[in-house]
Amino acid sequence: MPLKTGTEYIATIKALNLESHILGKNETGLTDHPLIQPSVSAVAATFDGAHSADEQTRQLFRARSPLCDAEVNRFTHLHQSPRDLMNKVIMQRRCGNLTGCCFQRCVGMDAANAVFSVSFECDRRHKTQYHERFTNYWRRIQTEDLVVDGAMTDPKGDRGKRPKDQKDPDLYLRVVKRKSGGVVVRGAKLHQTGMLNSHELIVMPTINLRPGEEDWSISFAMPTNTPGVKFIYGRQTSDTRKLEAFNMDVGNMKFGGQEVMTVFDDVFVPDDRIFLCGETDFSGLMVERFAAYHRQSYGGCKVGVGDILIGATALIAKMNGVENASHIKEKLVEMIHLNETMFSCGIACSAMGHPTAAGNFEIDMLLANVCKLNVTRFPYEMARLATDIAGGLLGTLPSAADLNDEVAGPYIRKYLAAADGVEVIDRIRVFRLIENLVAGAGSVAYLIESMHGAGPPAAQRIMIGRQGDIEGKIQKVKELIGIKKPN
Ligand code: SF4
Ligand code: FE
Repeated sequence: MPLKTGTEYIATIKALNLESHILGKNETGLTDHPLIQPSVSAVAATFDGAHSADEQTRQLFRARSPLCDAEVNRFTHLHQSPRDLMNKVIMQRRCGNLTGCCFQRCVGMDAANAVFSVSFECDRRHKTQYHERFTNYWRRIQTEDLVVDGAMTDPKGDRGKRPKDQKDPDLYLRVVKRKSGGVVVRGAKLHQTGMLNSHELIVMPTINLRPGEEDWSISFAMPTNTPGVKFIYGRQTSDTRKLEAFNMDVGNMKFGGQEVMTVFDDVFVPDDRIFLCGETDFSGLMVERFAAYHRQSYGGCKVGVGDILIGATALIAKMNGVENASHIKEKLVEMIHLNETMFSCGIACSAMGHPTAAGNFEIDMLLANVCKLNVTRFPYEMARLATDIAGGLLGTLPSAADLNDEVAGPYIRKYLAAADGVEVIDRIRVFRLIENLVAGAGSVAYLIESMHGAGPPAAQRIMIGRQGDIEGKIQKVKELIGIKKPN
């Protein structure tokens, strides 16, 4: 049965023996590294969900795949209906609840759904064979229940210049050699969520390419332990707290996210792993479709983490003894309103989904972009409200080491006491969890990624402008009030 447990997943990632540069050292044994281990646990939760004791959760994390005619983990599923699209978002929210962080596995699911349909449409126009290749590849991913990282963002160099006009053409990943049986690629992909916790990676172009830019119009897959693929771990705010003896100051001790710079140093890609190579007219569609699926994703995962932030904020209000103040109640309601608005967008773009020519289902493009544009704002406002409610101790708490110190410890316990019956250590734990999300390691995914992941707000505005049908709205006005002239 193609449904691994979290423990089985960790064993297979360990067996890949990946190496990464981390804080100036080349490290191995990554699954046990204190900076990496919480992110491995977060991905493991996506496997354990499919084996949850709770029937509803278990079913949510599973889906019937026509590709391999078996039940698969939903994180490898090609969506077959609007219900599937909605279940994806609901599962992501649930996963955010379970981990309180980015669980990293959605990028591959979003890449697969985009490449599946774009390769089909490309074959139809260019008589290429990408779709069958991809389908065979993805059947194996489903059957072996693997984690795949979707790699899109090129470094881009001078943003005012096209790939071929850059001083260094490698600033956009490209084909540097064509050989019999495949191509050699060189370049880098930035911000790679969960790369070191993935078995495989799928590369896609990062912009809409034009004729003359064929070398940059490349999509392919490969195992993460392919020779020539190199990783440089991205650090997070307060990450070295994970290396401290009393790691309570991390806030979320069990789970965390991961972002990696991935370098492709003249890496060979065999033909059967290439899904786009030179067809510039399909590069933009691949970018757009992947981005839209990922913009939908944020209507689930950020909301799940938002639930944790709201819960922690309500709890600290209780611990501080202010839970009955009317302004606290109002602010909590505002947080809920913001969170559920993002969720509504995630569900709406899913419910309005439609089939692609290849047969999998795509979200409503306009609503997915509205979803993500809200995500660029609302978590920031929720973080502001959480900071407001929690109070200044959020930024000035003594360390866990001091709490355990024989001189400082008793003072901390005495002077940080709050509402009756609240343990000081529990109060500190809640403060640290909020800090993690609004200013610590968790804020990378909860705030910065909410802004820039799946494209910055300007990218969503462009799509909303394109999809918003302003001319159609003008026409409706003319019909309503009887204007006959065309202009
Ligand atoms: Fe999934 Fe959200 Fe992490 Fe992206 S940020 S990989 S959608 S959990
Ligand atoms: Fe993301």
